[in-house]
Amino acid sequence: MPVDGTGAYDPQNVFARILRGELPCRKVYEDEYALAFHDIAPKAPIHVLVIPKGAYISFADFSAQASEAEIAGFIRAVGKVARDLGLEAPGYRLVSNTGIEGGQEVPHFHVHLFGGRPLGAMLPG
Ligand code: AMP
Repeated sequence: MPVDGTGAYDPQNVFARILRGELPCRKVYEDEYALAFHDIAPKAPIHVLVIPKGAYISFADFSAQASEAEIAGFIRAVGKVARDLGLEAPGYRLVSNTGIEGGQEVPHFHVHLFGGRPLGAMLPG
């Protein structure tokens, strides 16, 4: 069920619980600013989620409210994860679903990193 990308942050969302260690994840990378882990329902041979450590609901929230250090740290982490997974040469796709029409389901900002095969059209239809 898509969620609103605005409003108050829900500290019980699944990614907040993963960040607190209350739920497991298949971790790929972690630093001061970001955590990366395999998506539980992968849509490509490589499907990793990268999330900031801070409590941001959506890209809209993160881009407006996060500090420059958080934004820089997060973007560098996404690039590092893609590089470390060997995706730079073949290429990859980043997606961040935001809000109702974006189809966002988890209300903690995240970037999907897809790779491992030709990814086809940008959007269905
Ligand atoms: P979005 O629709 O952009 O909010 O995507 C949420 C993603 O989170 C989906 O691809 C889910 O498969 C994934 N997901 C939900 N719960 C978990 C979990 N516990 N561990 C890993 N991925 C999850």
